[in-house]
Amino acid sequence: MTRGGSTYEGVIAPDTVESRPMPSRKVSILIGEKNGAASNTAVHELLECPVCMNIMYPPIHQCPNGHTLCSKCKSKVRSCPICRQELGNIRCLALERVAESLEVPCRYQIFGCQDIFPYQSRLRHEQSCGFRPYNCPYAGAECHVSGSIPSLIQHLKNHHQVDMHDGSTFNHRYVKTDPQDFENATWMLTLFNCFGYQFCLHFEAFNLGRAPVYMAFIRFMGEEHDARKFSYSLEVGANGRKLTWQGVPRSIRDSHKTVRDSMDGLIIHKNMALFFSGGNSRELKLKVAGRIWKV
Ligand SMILES: [Zn+2]
Ligand SMILES: [Zn+2]
Ligand SMILES: [Zn+2]
Ligand SMILES: [Zn+2]
Repeated sequence: MTRGGSTYEGVIAPDTVESRPMPSRKVSILIGEKNGAASNTAVHELLECPVCMNIMYPPIHQCPNGHTLCSKCKSKVRSCPICRQELGNIRCLALERVAESLEVPCRYQIFGCQDIFPYQSRLRHEQSCGFRPYNCPYAGAECHVSGSIPSLIQHLKNHHQVDMHDGSTFNHRYVKTDPQDFENATWMLTLFNCFGYQFCLHFEAFNLGRAPVYMAFIRFMGEEHDARKFSYSLEVGANGRKLTWQGVPRSIRDSHKTVRDSMDGLIIHKNMALFFSGGNSRELKLKVAGRIWKV
């Protein structure tokens, strides 16, 4: 423990090791903060795995010469990646103790999360942090954009040319000139802005087993617990027949595919869809009416 020696006075807890920090133990080394503090940088560097560059979490391993590496990298090699000595099974308890005594901000701090956590419980928090970015809800293309809801709304409009409608009722027409061409799945997304939230209406063609179907469902741009405060209905029909679906919007935390595969939406078999379209099999012309309401 030589690097950044002065650091450790503030970091190592005076009491013995214990995983749950007491309130009195106010150690706030803010890893990842760009505050230029040399000591923090030194601790940060110490906890960085020299092989994969990720932050190391206990168990932290070391070679007989003291080179540290994370448990993931340890499982992949037999000799030390730095000095080539055989690794054996040596833990670096001192560094583990340093790691456990640290408090670090949530990695989604830049998105607004103000929480600071003991080193290890941070990981758990981050998996469900409400500020973690959402994935782009557009399903038609491989899109890897993620971000806050407002930034995704802009992205959907600008990049995917998605229409945004105000209001909680809608009447949407889906027209496809060649419904026989089922291999080219149709993906459509429309955004609705109501109750201060945004909802995604998905419409698409896919094969359910061997049966070609169309499916419509709504996803909620926000967290699951807010999504559950709403209900929606979808209706499609013609000639006195009607299919109705009433459901609960799914959070966009659930991938488009997850929702589709759980069949949580209005499913219209292709023959029925063609019947609703006027029955000449040459054109798909579906009118989907819907409503979103607060429960
Ligand atoms: Zn590593
Ligand atoms: Zn070594
Ligand atoms: Zn957070
Ligand atoms: Zn996108």
